[in-house]
Amino acid sequence: MGNLGAPEIILILLVILVLFGAKKIPELAQGLGKGIREFRKASRDIQDEIEHEVTKIDTEAKVQCYFCKASVSKDAKHCPSCGKSLEQPKCTKCGNTNLLGSRFCKECGQKLDE
Ligand SMILES: [Zn+2]
Ligand SMILES: [Zn+2]
Repeated sequence: MGNLGAPEIILILLVILVLFGAKKIPELAQGLGKGIREFRKASRDIQDEIEHEVTKIDTEAKVQCYFCKASVSKDAKHCPSCGKSLEQPKCTKCGNTNLLGSRFCKECGQKLDE
């Protein structure tokens, strides 16, 4: 559809008036209003869906840096903001994987590398 300016709309309304008569106008307006409401509802649903998708992608791809709270890629090995390792520290002595930010192994007490 091309751009409809006010003169075109008035012309269309006049044609409708001639074709259907003045009595039909409220009926047509009602139908039009219903159509617009349905269209708005549909576009709102689509918008909701898009927003939902965006937040889903966002939370899937990004994690918060344990140290500086910066948003970093889930696959990043190091935080680009503070440079700290984002991999869970593995104990060199017993091989236990410790929580991010641990300084000592929770299994054997071995000091962990940064
Ligand atoms: Zn950081
Ligand atoms: Zn250990």
